[in-house]
Amino acid sequence: MNGLMAGKRGLIMGVANDHSIAWGIAKALAAQGAEIALTYQGEAFGRRVKPLADSIGSKLLLPCDVEDAETIASVFDTLKSEWGSLDFLVHAIGFSDRAQLKGRYLDVTTRDNFTRTMVISAYSFTEVAQHAAPLLNKGGSLLTLTYGGSMRVMPNYNVMGVAKAALEAMVRYLAADFGEDGVRVNAISAGPVRTLAGAGIGDARQMFSYQQRNSPLQRTVNIDEIGQSALYLLSDMSSGVTGEIHYVDSGYNIMSMPRMNELRK
Ligand code: NAD
Repeated sequence: MNGLMAGKRGLIMGVANDHSIAWGIAKALAAQGAEIALTYQGEAFGRRVKPLADSIGSKLLLPCDVEDAETIASVFDTLKSEWGSLDFLVHAIGFSDRAQLKGRYLDVTTRDNFTRTMVISAYSFTEVAQHAAPLLNKGGSLLTLTYGGSMRVMPNYNVMGVAKAALEAMVRYLAADFGEDGVRVNAISAGPVRTLAGAGIGDARQMFSYQQRNSPLQRTVNIDEIGQSALYLLSDMSSGVTGEIHYVDSGYNIMSMPRMNELRK
């Protein structure tokens, strides 16, 4: 199928490099004709993202640190003056102090990092949705990225799991509020992917290999697969879907026990 996103314009937040989940999504949408604006966090990432933006014909590459409300406002001011309206928005942003992404949640979690993690990884989705609201066309679609550590305990995921639980609840509240405008809000709960953010979690390599061995498909997913699922959720193909947490994790979330051959080891 070609041109699924022809005539649609959207903002993708969270490309750090060509391993980023947001980049998998950007490629899938651009291949279907979407016009894409990208944000980057800080000049060092900006230099890395520029050639990626060029490769998909993205003319709007804007700085944005979601800890700084003014930079968020400035992104949407630019979108308003350059485009006037918006069809989709992707929020693929997460951060926590990696020192608190290992060990017992009970022992390592501080007030400061709890607050910072919640603001960057969860609240920022509400804030960008507020700015996007007046620009979104009917039929518009918002998407964020979450992880199964929100629903079940994953060792070391700690405060990020708590933030992702908040983010998933936010998806439902935003979906209810945006419904009357004909705008949809969903999340993809992705399996582990080797990215900068993913590498910050304690014992990431072991978790990656455990999920690889124990998911029904017996492998992990890649950013292109996440991109294809995002394409569905951001296009009119999913026009009846909102408030959904869609798992793209090789089916890992359905398992309640390790596979038998793992237990016999
Ligand atoms: P990544 O490191 O490539 O992307 C994370 C992005 O968050 C980066 O672009 C970074 O610049 C941005 N970011 C962090 N703090 C920010 C701030 N203050 N302001 C603006 N941007 C900020 O890693 P990724 O794995 O592609 O992460 C994207 C999303 O996917 C995150 O929400 C992450 O939690 C989620 N996710 C990742 C995995 C995984 O295994 N990698 C699995 C499920 C969900």
